[in-house]
Amino acid sequence: MFIQVLLVKHSGLDKFFTYAVPKYLEKDIKIGIVVSVPFGISNNMTPAYIVDIIEKTDVDMNKIKYVSSINSAGQLFSKHMFILAKWMSNKYFTNISACLKCIIPFATKLVKNDIPIKELHLLRLNPDIDLQSLTIRKNTHAYNIISLLKEYNSLSVEDVKSKLSIKITPISLLLKKKIIILTKIRIFRDVTTNRYNIAEDSVILTREQKRVFDAISKCENNDKPFLLHGVTGSGKTEIYVHLIREIIQKNKQAIVLVPEISLTPQMVSYFKNNFGNRVSVTHSKLTLAERYDQFSKALYGEIDVMIGSRSAIFTPFKDLGIIIIDEEHEKSYKSETNPKYHIKEVAIKLSELTNAKLVLGSATPSLETYYEAINNNVVLLNLENKINKATTTMDIVDMRNELSNGNIGVLSHRLLKEIYINLQNQEKTILFLNRRGHSSFISCRKCGKSIMCDNCNVNYTYHIDQDKLMCHYCSVIKVPPKTCPSCTSRYIKYLGVGTQKVEEQLKRVFPKANVLRMDTDTTRSKYSYSRILDEFKSSRKASILIGTQMLSKGLDFPEVSLVGVILADLSLNLGDFRAAETTFQLLVQVAGRAGRGDVNGRVIVQTYTPDHYAILCAKEGSYKKFFDKEITLRKLMGYPPFSHIFIVMISANDEYRVKECLSSLSTIMHKNNVSKSYNILGPAPCMISKLKNKHRWKLIIIGLEEDLLKEYTFKCLKMLKDMYDMKDITINLTLNPSFIS
Ligand code: ADP
Ligand code: ZN
Ligand code: ZN
Repeated sequence: MFIQVLLVKHSGLDKFFTYAVPKYLEKDIKIGIVVSVPFGISNNMTPAYIVDIIEKTDVDMNKIKYVSSINSAGQLFSKHMFILAKWMSNKYFTNISACLKCIIPFATKLVKNDIPIKELHLLRLNPDIDLQSLTIRKNTHAYNIISLLKEYNSLSVEDVKSKLSIKITPISLLLKKKIIILTKIRIFRDVTTNRYNIAEDSVILTREQKRVFDAISKCENNDKPFLLHGVTGSGKTEIYVHLIREIIQKNKQAIVLVPEISLTPQMVSYFKNNFGNRVSVTHSKLTLAERYDQFSKALYGEIDVMIGSRSAIFTPFKDLGIIIIDEEHEKSYKSETNPKYHIKEVAIKLSELTNAKLVLGSATPSLETYYEAINNNVVLLNLENKINKATTTMDIVDMRNELSNGNIGVLSHRLLKEIYINLQNQEKTILFLNRRGHSSFISCRKCGKSIMCDNCNVNYTYHIDQDKLMCHYCSVIKVPPKTCPSCTSRYIKYLGVGTQKVEEQLKRVFPKANVLRMDTDTTRSKYSYSRILDEFKSSRKASILIGTQMLSKGLDFPEVSLVGVILADLSLNLGDFRAAETTFQLLVQVAGRAGRGDVNGRVIVQTYTPDHYAILCAKEGSYKKFFDKEITLRKLMGYPPFSHIFIVMISANDEYRVKECLSSLSTIMHKNNVSKSYNILGPAPCMISKLKNKHRWKLIIIGLEEDLLKEYTFKCLKMLKDMYDMKDITINLTLNPSFIS
């Protein structure tokens, strides 16, 4: 028997080496096991993953080396996972080692024995000893220990000590006499703090829910993903629960992906109430030891359901039955570091490998997914009705009128009045302000127009360091006008209000209100999300929760009757072709947080552009209308889903070098773009044009076919490297970014 291995340590080196397996180790050889192999001239023992098992090899039999031993780390990936890693490596142009690191981030530490395994020492009576034959006096420690173990069968050493208030000595004595025996069992670090009550009766699905459930459940060949397009509050989560229950009955397992950790506490409680401790959680805020233990729970069949953000997709279940991606439109599903994978693409591949069902759920599907559904590559299922009867209305406040009425604060009179009413009625309020709005843009406070690039149909971005307007797509530069080009008003403003400013103002106007804030600054630690949400949920008195986009998703608080969007324009002015889509999604999702209980919900949206189609369609709550409008524009501009986008970002300390290098690349690309198959935009500075003293510029290359686009870009990059000294330059490549920065 021979094996091919990949070294655990040399992560830059994507090379497989062949080793022979001694007879006595053959039975333990499996893909994904770590072995020690002699490596190099000095034959140092090196840990390596088994990636393939082969019968024959071309390697000279006189030179072949033997596997030395098997590492205690156990099996770290299955054959499927290795196929997935190889696929990721190719799709996201990242070496296999880095892809494996993403799948099993704890591996290197584990192999070095740096992750302590938690074990429990159980005591029990030795079954081979005849207790009758022993003479043990009553009320001695020995007598008490034996009685206790008769009662409990087995107990941990710690439990025996605390129950009898004794030290270890009498236990050791009984151990020495072989009256009791000790076994070790592995225990797993618990990462869910959720209290839960298993619901007594399961929820009965409505007729609409049942129709969707049946469509997914009865489908035998799972070659197409399902898109569950259901308005917020239509009971999508309950459908997931029913599907998973059925999957578990078939002895299969489920992975549930949620976009952010902030969502996890409520989702986890929901699932725990249904599946008890057969549910676990994994995400990047856990320690590697905690993540390894959750991985092991799945491997050893201790759990059936794993909930988590991106990394949960790599859970090593034996027989995966279903993958659910909740809020599938979320941008956080695309990894921003190598391998820059999109969870949807990985899930499609994984479901292909395992024949697991794949369900994508959203009230506001991404344009790409909905377009696939219209073209029958995804099965579209609709939920059109909310479960509860409460209605939600959305009103738009035109902030231009506030200004002309002399209100220069961030909260309109209308919103302040509604907050006041809620405080009087002891009802809860959520105020939402999109954080990414800190990226500067320039807009007229009188007529609301923001200044747009003529070539690209995107907003100019204001660069404060140079006091210039710039298009981030085609790099046109413009001096910021002193007066508004549309209405000649002098009130041209850089819009950038933070959540802290809103908090301040609220506390001033309503000194007695309980104001909570949730944003990146207040949620740095592991459990701070749940803490703030718990506080908001449990506080009886009128409360106001202010937060960034982490508030927009999935939160289910029945007591919230008012939602205010402080500035809808922030996401409209991102300088990204997806800005309208992002804004529409945010507004619909945020609105979905109100009116979830018995009280009707009111949503107040403050904006300087009340006529924008993203805002009008959100007010109507019409996804279809928005989709039709937006897809027409995308087609016109040749943006995704009608194309693929490749971003080449180049950074270096010297700005001149960055520009020079990217210009050379641009020249090469234009020269090789003979049939004009590709649209090359730039070079242009990145949204953050200088980061940690590095200047960052980018080229945007748009092409119809993903593989050809990749091939073309890599060919041009190779030509660049052949003719240009790149030693002080860093290249960063992203295919189909979730936003262009
Ligand atoms: P969505 O995920 O589509 O926004 P949820 O799954 O959160 O909606 O459901 C909204 C609310 O309705 C939740 O409180 C949920 O417990 C409740 N619910 C869902 N399905 C049913 C049902 N069939 N009967 C009663 N209540 C339900
Ligand atoms: Zn104006
Ligand atoms: Zn432009």
